[in-house]
Amino acid sequence: MDNPSLKDHRQIGQELEIFMIDELAPGTIFWLPKGMTIIKQIEKFIRDQNEAHGFQEVQTPILVKSNIFQKSGHFKYYEHHMYNMDIEHERYSLKPMNCPETALIYKSKTRSYRDLPLRYSEYGRLHRRELSGVVGGLLRVIEFTQDDGHVFLKNDQLENEVLNILKWINQFHALMGFPSKFYLGTKPDKALGDNKIWQMAETSLKNALKKSGVNFEIREKDGVFYGPKIDVDITDVQNRTWTVSTVQADFNIPKQFDLEYVNEDGKLQRLVMVHRSIIGSFERFIGTLLEHYQGALPLWLSPVQVAVLPISDKATEYSRKVYEKLKEEQIRADFDTTDKPIGAKIREATLQKIPFMCIIGSKEEAESVGSSGYFVSVRTREGQDLGQKKLSDFVKGLKEDIEKKK
Ligand SMILES: [Zn+2]
Repeated sequence: MDNPSLKDHRQIGQELEIFMIDELAPGTIFWLPKGMTIIKQIEKFIRDQNEAHGFQEVQTPILVKSNIFQKSGHFKYYEHHMYNMDIEHERYSLKPMNCPETALIYKSKTRSYRDLPLRYSEYGRLHRRELSGVVGGLLRVIEFTQDDGHVFLKNDQLENEVLNILKWINQFHALMGFPSKFYLGTKPDKALGDNKIWQMAETSLKNALKKSGVNFEIREKDGVFYGPKIDVDITDVQNRTWTVSTVQADFNIPKQFDLEYVNEDGKLQRLVMVHRSIIGSFERFIGTLLEHYQGALPLWLSPVQVAVLPISDKATEYSRKVYEKLKEEQIRADFDTTDKPIGAKIREATLQKIPFMCIIGSKEEAESVGSSGYFVSVRTREGQDLGQKKLSDFVKGLKEDIEKKK
């Protein structure tokens, strides 16, 4: 850690019970209930956005015959990063990427120009080998889930499609509070496909970058062997940069898998494929989030949003009603029923980075008598006293902030 006052995501993950690691499964993550709550929120958010952007969700097999990767050309470059095994005299692999199998879905029927752009999204569980010495925490894993997306389109649709994806990525990073920078990687020395199509794709990507108004630079020869790419780096609280999102054009898979559509003249025509990922992998993204926010995640992502803390035993009954009301309103709440003094309960909820605490004693109960609702005293994890509030008003405010993803 460059800044010793900041905690590593592994320490945060352990203290907040987000995830665990066991030597029996090196380089992989055991997600604990609170970690799964974070994942489910991000999944839901991306899933809703996928739908709004015209993506249809699919799921492709994890274990697949290796020859699909021979056909796609990945085996040549990736074999040593893949888990390969023999089953009944045939070679199988755990997929290191989703693209070739998504190409099979495209190819499963004849497509017309009217079907394009055709967009598929997938939360794909991938495996990529790493040396055991370099795996660690959420940032270097051998098994991860990618928020993947593939678009099949005509050459003249490339610029507009990439533009829409760039705007989406830009909004997403602004929402998450990460400053981001975009990089266009152009044709590398070892590249597949002819110059004309490379030029067309590079121009489309560059135009999209310009139109989107994002901050970008060109990295010469940093494209992938199959096409130019845009990487989006974020800067975290420690000034480290991480590549999170990516948009890539691909001419190789369409060629290898003969991906075509019937054009306006009734003739078969080759298409372009676009790979895109908004968050990259859930593992790495959550690791970065935990460090960036030092565990104090935004309200909508917090595994527990409100802690209900009775001041004494006498307030337990009334506190339980408040807790149940919060649950009923779909607020993620915790109820501290221990007999610890209130100061210790507040300290515990603060250490657990729970955004809000409802502190309840006889005063709050007395307020609610004869009125139409419950009263609670609200405190934030930053130690700010928000005073006594009507529970219904407090819940209304919470819901608005969750909706706005504040
Ligand atoms: Zn892909």
